[in-house]
Amino acid sequence: MLAPDMNDRPDDTVPGRAVLAAADVHIHTCCSDGAASPNEVARVLAASSLAVAAVTDHDTVGGALRVREALAGRGPEIVIGCEVSSADGHVLALFVERDVPVGRSARETVELIHERGGLAVAVHPYFPVHSVGDLAARLPFDAIEVANGTPLGEMANRLARRRLAHLGRAALGGSDAHLLREIGHVRTLFPGRTAADLRSAIERAETRAAFDWRAHVAAAPFRLAREAWRTLPWARTARSALAET
Ligand SMILES: [Zn+2]
Ligand SMILES: [Zn+2]
Repeated sequence: MLAPDMNDRPDDTVPGRAVLAAADVHIHTCCSDGAASPNEVARVLAASSLAVAAVTDHDTVGGALRVREALAGRGPEIVIGCEVSSADGHVLALFVERDVPVGRSARETVELIHERGGLAVAVHPYFPVHSVGDLAARLPFDAIEVANGTPLGEMANRLARRRLAHLGRAALGGSDAHLLREIGHVRTLFPGRTAADLRSAIERAETRAAFDWRAHVAAAPFRLAREAWRTLPWARTARSALAET
């Protein structure tokens, strides 16, 4: 396998190796908690250099289906997916055309994804919340997200690489974009060009994660401000006051 290390170049070739294409395997739309509509995400993807993009809203493949429809064959090839809320934390389902039941154990969730013909990914396994932790090593995940673009997630990313690199599973990078400007700033590099190539690269553990640090740093303040507005108590009070006016 290619080492699950980091590459500052967003995508291109690795000297002495096959030409690699880039995929962003973790993108949200407003079909769950993303800020942008599927049409807006499609517009940004169409102008991007990504060869493949997986749209993975929380607990629904609806966002991915709408982005694929909006692109109508333009831009990157779309992988249908969702980020499943298992009882043990978030589990990413790639290459599934229908929803995966929520609230089951991580083990059962991985089985359900496999039954649907999909690939199961342990995403942000060492984030303090919504994460499967060491189950990433014990369950038959097809891949580990060793680079997640959530601001302040660097320590958890490092932990994932250190604890899980020895497993020999595919190493993925996903932006976890909730804003348009975040799309593609963390990528998975793979040999080939198509979604089928990405799938077989994951199955052969021949992927690697790549971080575009400039885009990451540029997007972080916007993402943090949005998360604060959505979650902090004072912001919740301000939002309800605004809603009443
Ligand atoms: Zn998540
Ligand atoms: Zn996510």
